[in-house]
Amino acid sequence: MQSVTRAVFPFSAIVGQDEMKLALICTAVDPTIGGVLVLGDRGTGKSTAIRALAALLPPMQAVIGCRYACDPADRDAWCAECQERHPGGTIKARSVPVPVVDLPLGVTEDRVVGALDLEKALSQGIKAFEPGLLARANRGFLYIDEVNLLEDHLVDLLIDVAASGENLVEREGLSVRHPARFVLIGSGNPEEGELRPQLLDRFGLSVEIRTPTELHERVDVIKRRDEFERDKSAFVAKWKKADVALRKRIVAGRERVETTSIPDSVLESAAKLCMQLGTDGLRAELTLMRAARALASFELAETVDVSHLRRISTLALRHRLRRDPLDESGSAVRIERAVQEALGA
Ligand SMILES: [Zn+2]
Repeated sequence: MQSVTRAVFPFSAIVGQDEMKLALICTAVDPTIGGVLVLGDRGTGKSTAIRALAALLPPMQAVIGCRYACDPADRDAWCAECQERHPGGTIKARSVPVPVVDLPLGVTEDRVVGALDLEKALSQGIKAFEPGLLARANRGFLYIDEVNLLEDHLVDLLIDVAASGENLVEREGLSVRHPARFVLIGSGNPEEGELRPQLLDRFGLSVEIRTPTELHERVDVIKRRDEFERDKSAFVAKWKKADVALRKRIVAGRERVETTSIPDSVLESAAKLCMQLGTDGLRAELTLMRAARALASFELAETVDVSHLRRISTLALRHRLRRDPLDESGSAVRIERAVQEALGA
């Protein structure tokens, strides 16, 4: 199916944007952290970074013939079609790249959730389901540019699916339920519209990206982009070693994340920090804990310590502060202060 692979800008070649890279790596190590909200300027290479990360990740094994790319090793998460077709026998799998699916603004609900396959209905009189974007994003990334401008009914739908990991379609005489677990990546400019708190809460981490202000950084960005455009395969080859090394570290991190331990003292520090900031509910602590553990695992540490917590705290908490959650500069300062008070200098 993927006979033509387009050259993707290498993740390792991205200049700066350390917060975004860190957030993406953490969610790649542990996807249960939730998605990443990217706040900031246009034209800062947000979509490039996500595509680069997906291309960097090892391909996934998927059940052959499954429209949702079910994981052959995760029987509990199989779609109804896989359950029916492979009740106990052997299954054939193939390698597929980790999907990155764009959800454009103005998209219809049919395209997102899937709909009745009209062609089959008209030509053969069969009621069949035509999967939508949520099906294609299963086990990968769902990217929404300008998520703050997304229509309310789609936001509601996404909140439901992101929480349950399943897409339930009941319409036009269809009743279909299929797995839809994805890392939600949303970008937005806070000045152009607020995000509903329920949706904000769905994002595990948030990062802020700005056009680089350092002269040499700007020059590096332009140089590398130009080099890539002029000879994509040579550029990709040049960065291959760095990308492969990073992939190995992510894979090693994934393997360790189950066994990396978090001492009670670190959990207490996390709770103290969240109390200091007055975050609602316990999701903030949970995310903080998972992200710190993912970071520690990525760095091959055996246990999580306060330094992991410190480095991840702004990313995990910035969008959870009650007052004006999208005033990111103010948020970062407030978190920094709370970190100093709760975790020490
Ligand atoms: Zn399946």
